Amino acid sequence: MFSNLKYCSKCIMPETVEGQEFDSEGLCKACQSQAQKQNIDWPARREALGKIFANAKENAGNNYDCIVPISGGKDSTWQMHVLVKEYGMKPLAVTFSHNWFSKTGWYNLMNGLERFGLDHVMFTPSRQLVNRCARRSVETIGDACWHCHAGVGAFVLKMAVAYKIPLIVWGESTAEHGRATYDKPDKFDRDYFLRVSAKFTNEQFACEYLSLRDLFPFEVPGVEECEAIGLNGIHLGDYLYWDTEKQVEFVKKEYGWKGTQVEGAYKDYKSVECSMAGIHDFLCYLKRGYGRASIQASGDIRDGLISREKGFELAEKYEQIKPESLNYFLKATRLSWEKLIDMIWPLCQTKIKEIGMMPTQEWRDIPEAGKPFVQRLVDGEV
Ligand SMILES: [Zn+2]
Repeated sequence: MFSNLKYCSKCIMPETVEGQEFDSEGLCKACQSQAQKQNIDWPARREALGKIFANAKENAGNNYDCIVPISGGKDSTWQMHVLVKEYGMKPLAVTFSHNWFSKTGWYNLMNGLERFGLDHVMFTPSRQLVNRCARRSVETIGDACWHCHAGVGAFVLKMAVAYKIPLIVWGESTAEHGRATYDKPDKFDRDYFLRVSAKFTNEQFACEYLSLRDLFPFEVPGVEECEAIGLNGIHLGDYLYWDTEKQVEFVKKEYGWKGTQVEGAYKDYKSVECSMAGIHDFLCYLKRGYGRASIQASGDIRDGLISREKGFELAEKYEQIKPESLNYFLKATRLSWEKLIDMIWPLCQTKIKEIGMMPTQEWRDIPEAGKPFVQRLVDGEV
């Protein structure tokens, strides 16, 4: 897509992906993972998962068997299905709300809880806190979502410690997108989310308009507290063969999970729960030269569904668009477009700066992008 960038020899992921390493054949980490995925002894891994769950049940007493962190996204319903229907587990569902729920996302979350009959704890940071964090997030990590990255990690751990539930069960493996590989899965520990997504601790994130007291919801429990309960976290995708397309089809048909149009994407299932997903992916495009469509197209290429040329075509069509959610985001963070670009610029990859890329197309009309569902609700718009 950009002539000065090196791309994976199989898919369309560029060298600017964080932690990207091409092997001797020029394959990116995600493509290497895909090859490994076919050679993994999945029955043995499934057996290992069964043991982890049997052990959790045995030690739970009257408590919940595990925590299932859910967002209302595509994996949430699948996670609940595997835990409840396949393994007969009794999980406590835990949600850190980013407070940017779309209408479809809110429906999916509530629908899942009703269908599986789960007890649920949710934390919602105030609108003002979210807005201030989003502004600070742009200048620190270069995306809009620090409060979500940090909050998801911290709140789930807080609940694990508070309820003394040592096992947390996430969905997709980080190997699917090249953060780890199936041969070497990412080992979970207390700092996992800080490492992979939040990047900045509360102390580093605090600034003149965000005190440590404001940031308390993002404070991770201490090492001793986590060790005292023997905290462990696993991703189902490291134990069960992960097939996103099939799983999405299954949860739609079986449980009424709904997809919707998402900015910058050509599939209807990624990040449907968030009305601001377009901002996240657009900022990634500005900094690193790829967005959601590249990730989706790369997955389709690996699965043999589309050609590499078609992948580049889709990426160009969907990614080089200013998202509609930008309007809401700029208002909420009190930033101008120029100021936003100023903040992002130092975080752009050198090769991307050389390109000097700018969005060239206007946005499509995507009804759920921008203003979050609850704000629309209280304003009488839905
Ligand atoms: Zn690749």
